[in-house]
Amino acid sequence: MKLNPDNYYTEAANYEYMSVSQYKDFAGSYGRRGCEARAMANLRGEWSEAPSLAMMVGSYVDAYFESGTSFGTFQTSHPDMFRQDGGLRAPYERANEIIRRIERDDFMMQCLSGEKQVIMTGEVFGIPWKIKMDSYHPGKVIVDLKVVESIRKLKWVKDIGYLDFIRYWGYDVQGAIYQEVVYQNTGKKLPFYIAAATKEPVPEIQVIHVQDIFLRQAMASVAYNINRVKEVKSGKEPPGRCEICGYCLDTRVLHCPVGLLDITSEV
Ligand SMILES: [Zn+2]
Repeated sequence: MKLNPDNYYTEAANYEYMSVSQYKDFAGSYGRRGCEARAMANLRGEWSEAPSLAMMVGSYVDAYFESGTSFGTFQTSHPDMFRQDGGLRAPYERANEIIRRIERDDFMMQCLSGEKQVIMTGEVFGIPWKIKMDSYHPGKVIVDLKVVESIRKLKWVKDIGYLDFIRYWGYDVQGAIYQEVVYQNTGKKLPFYIAAATKEPVPEIQVIHVQDIFLRQAMASVAYNINRVKEVKSGKEPPGRCEICGYCLDTRVLHCPVGLLDITSEV
């Protein structure tokens, strides 16, 4: 199957190719636990979570910088963006402030001025992967735009300690896979930048180089998890249920009571 913008997100493409978001759906990141049962239901088209308003702010900013027709398409497919008087609802006003802040910065704009939404495929750990890059500068750098809560605030992870937002949300995994797939297609190993902007009252912007040492660590974590993901996706192993995600709650079937201590054992 040859991928293009029209079939990139289809069920068939998701079955044939692994993507970073699909991988994280199975294996999780520090910030969001994976759930194999939910990942399989996603693949079958049986489960999808409506994006939160906070997530829509990021999608709006993404669509704006994709340019072309995607921004117009975004507006027509999200009539809920507008108030009854025709004005933008508050979260989208915030999104516009973020956009204006980014546009005031020449370096950030330069980083975002590469080829938009470039699709490539490659083979990593014996399976085909697909990637779609926000801003690709051939021979120079791969840039991904992220609209985040905070750039500097650390996130607490049990047994690990405090983590930056990049490793917390598995964006280092994204960089590792993107770098490898671009390398397979071009023979060039490019640096990976996150162009980040925050939703804070005064948006903070930063372009962060996720150095290769972190990409190698991320790739090692994929190496550790990928066999299990492959076995579940191919149907060789039954998917495990996390019992705490929306899909697991929605499909839970009760058979008998649980003990008092069991209700908090997952926390
Ligand atoms: Zn689950």
